[in-house]
Amino acid sequence: QPITIAIDGYSSCGKSTLARALAKKLNYVFIDSGAMYRGVTLFAIENECIINGIVDKEKLTQKLEQIQLRFASVEEDERKHLFLNGKDVEKQIRSMEVAGYVSEIATIREVREKLVLSQREMGKNGGVVMDGRDIGSVVFPDAELKLFVTASPEVRAERRFKELTEQGRNVTREEVLVNLMERDRIDTSRKESPLIQVKDAIVLDNTNMTPEQQLEFALQKVHE
Ligand code: C5P
Repeated sequence: QPITIAIDGYSSCGKSTLARALAKKLNYVFIDSGAMYRGVTLFAIENECIINGIVDKEKLTQKLEQIQLRFASVEEDERKHLFLNGKDVEKQIRSMEVAGYVSEIATIREVREKLVLSQREMGKNGGVVMDGRDIGSVVFPDAELKLFVTASPEVRAERRFKELTEQGRNVTREEVLVNLMERDRIDTSRKESPLIQVKDAIVLDNTNMTPEQQLEFALQKVHE
């Protein structure tokens, strides 16, 4: 019987890496909910909803109906990519510019409502691993397995820095650390579905764990 697995936690904890590996192993669907918030953020940037660094929440809210997001396979990559209104934006949504605005965009109630509806639709048949900030608390409160992932900020910044530089992006460690601390601050303090550790979640502190060890830990919980 396929189950629903919710993986929440702070920024750059390796949630997506774990969720993807778990989905592959179990032959489940993996959904990166953060990519969807990033997609809305890219739309906001491209449609003059952010002017001189200020997010025009009302303007964006009015345009939300114009945003269509979906995950689809592409030829050159085994991972699915996010498509925004028919365009592959997988690369663009990982930019520091998007990372700089996404948490503010994610505080908008109407944005969250739209994305939560579509996330529930994508996961309605079970057999899904979804990672994010509010999956175990809001999107799938009845998920059979909930993991809450943490790691020290320095380790997280280092991992993210490595990932970004490997992609050829021009960033500094400091910039990455500042961005993820700021995103954590906004995510945990916002009014709409803040990042919380729900009481039925299992904590996974992966500061000193390899991806293989994390997968093993999660698989053990699935089979318990
Ligand atoms: O997971 P990722 O770091 O790509 O998510 C980007 C941002 O989107 C997070 O920092 C958070 O502000 C927001 N987010 C959210 N709820 C989710 C997933 C992501 O608010 N379920």
